[in-house]
Amino acid sequence: MSELPDNPISATVDFAREGVQHGFLKLPYSRDDSAWGAVMIPVTVIQRGEGRTALLTGGNHGDEYEGPVALSKLAQSLSAKDVSGRLIIVPFMNTPAFHAGRRTSPIDKGNLNRSFPGKPDGTVTEKIADYFTRTLLPLADIVLDIHSGGRTLDFLPFAACHVLPDKQQQAQCEAGMRAFNAPYSMRMLELDAGAMYDTAAERQGKVFVTTELGGGGSSTARSVAIAERGVRNLLVHAGILDGEVQLAPSIMLDMPDGDCFIASEHDGLLEMCRDLGDNVEQGEVIARVYDATRSGAASVEYRAARSGLLAARHFPGLVRCGDTIAVIADVLN
Ligand SMILES: [Zn+2]
Repeated sequence: MSELPDNPISATVDFAREGVQHGFLKLPYSRDDSAWGAVMIPVTVIQRGEGRTALLTGGNHGDEYEGPVALSKLAQSLSAKDVSGRLIIVPFMNTPAFHAGRRTSPIDKGNLNRSFPGKPDGTVTEKIADYFTRTLLPLADIVLDIHSGGRTLDFLPFAACHVLPDKQQQAQCEAGMRAFNAPYSMRMLELDAGAMYDTAAERQGKVFVTTELGGGGSSTARSVAIAERGVRNLLVHAGILDGEVQLAPSIMLDMPDGDCFIASEHDGLLEMCRDLGDNVEQGEVIARVYDATRSGAASVEYRAARSGLLAARHFPGLVRCGDTIAVIADVLN
């Protein structure tokens, strides 16, 4: 592989320095309204002594809020004496998307979580991805990326890990997922994993945990509490914070194959016939889609291809052909 150019992002923090630092990842972005301007991505580094490094991110998609809220609170509340090792906290990973309240960047339409490993001389979004791939991920032992459904999906609150070729690494990721201890824990199948942050972290051998903690383009008191508790639990599990991992019952879920996904083949008005957390039987009607251009036409029925738990759903009341209507997961315990 040819040598890649340096990434143009510079950090205003020193990742090797002890103590608490709040600063920015500064990405030059020359544009019409700011000739020598920059995208300023907030970052907090907290370090004390030797130990492991956790890289914590929210706002990878800009319309998901549990991670940004929980990580903003963590960055503001921790002092160096609370930490053994190092925390790198980036609450608004795709900062332009976050400020726009959108999944993707308004600058280049980039979906950060489909832009890895990134390019140092690519778009703004690809430059952010490259900086994580080549600068931040190599510093980390444990990587937590907090997601939820955004404006178009809603999820049962779960922490997740993936099936990995390295079974020892998979076991460490699963242990991290269990320590996060969301009400549900998912062995997650990705339909399009190649360019995800998850995959970049896992390929570097990191202990990687992700989440889906709700959705609909906002957060709730309950979903934020799950995020805060999960982050602390994971950091205690990693030996970076003192204390005990607080474990409550968590229902184990699995997505064994593509049958879990129900996709719409019609545009129209969505009627969900089952809600998140409901047990559904194979063949049962999960949703109906109505032609919204006329009255009196028969609706189209969408049925469960498998039995299980309704773990995700399309959030808006209107649906388009190709949208995911629902995800049905297997219950393992
Ligand atoms: Zn997301």
